[in-house]
Amino acid sequence: MSGLLEGRSALVTGAAQGIGLAIARTFIEHGASVTIADLDADRAAAAAASLGGGARGVGCDVTAEQQVADLVAGAAQAHRGLDVLVNNAGITRDASLRKMRLEDFRAVVDVHLQGTWLALRAASEVMREAKRGSIVNLSSMSGKVGNPGQTNYSAAKAGIVGMTKAAAKELAHHGVRVNAVQPGLIRTPMTEAMSAEAYAATEATIPMRRAGEPEEIANAVLFLASDLSSYVTGAVLEVSGGRGM
Ligand code: NAD
Repeated sequence: MSGLLEGRSALVTGAAQGIGLAIARTFIEHGASVTIADLDADRAAAAAASLGGGARGVGCDVTAEQQVADLVAGAAQAHRGLDVLVNNAGITRDASLRKMRLEDFRAVVDVHLQGTWLALRAASEVMREAKRGSIVNLSSMSGKVGNPGQTNYSAAKAGIVGMTKAAAKELAHHGVRVNAVQPGLIRTPMTEAMSAEAYAATEATIPMRRAGEPEEIANAVLFLASDLSSYVTGAVLEVSGGRGM
């Protein structure tokens, strides 16, 4: 199947690498015009250039209100509207409760919760005017089951679920759908930072006995972004090889 996003305009945050980059690539393969946003403008531009397909790369810190407003307005202007937003930007600052500092908690909550909310608010304004749109938020299985060492990240990712459902209820009658994806362990720079023992121990708990690939998350996001999921809103899709089911 191809062309599921033909003629659509999409914005993916945190897309210079990892899952976001795979989402951007998949969207372009399916005909979308894509804006890639990431903290560093040069990395975003390099990622866009590597994908081709007319992708734009833009520097944006998703925690900064004005930068997000400018990002959404710029994407809508460059690609004549905004049909799809993927809130993918994310960080981890793992530590046990005894060692986690307040700034580690705040940084993670700011990027995931405030960042997702700012882009959701700005994009939904454009989408409700057009009476169509799909927003996909990256949560995590840690937001469902909780991970030790991730009180900050698990709280933020659970918060994204509540935000997704509240926004889905507000926006459904405007033709805008809002859904979340909960990846399990996916092979990206974020998880490559884990110790080999922690990675292997996590992998051993996965019923499918392997980590997922970024493309496997991108395909789930594609489903939620496209008309294949035209009657799906407020849903949380687990893509975890069965882990945490
Ligand atoms: P990654 O670290 O490889 O990529 C994240 C990207 O987000 C980076 O390019 C980074 O520069 C960008 N970013 C960070 N802070 C930002 C900010 N303030 N503004 C804009 N961009 C920012 O991570 P990944 O593994 O590709 O994860 C992507 C998303 O999927 C994240 O939300 C993550 O929490 C979620 N997730 C990942 C996994 C996994 O196993 N990899 C599992 C569950 C959920």
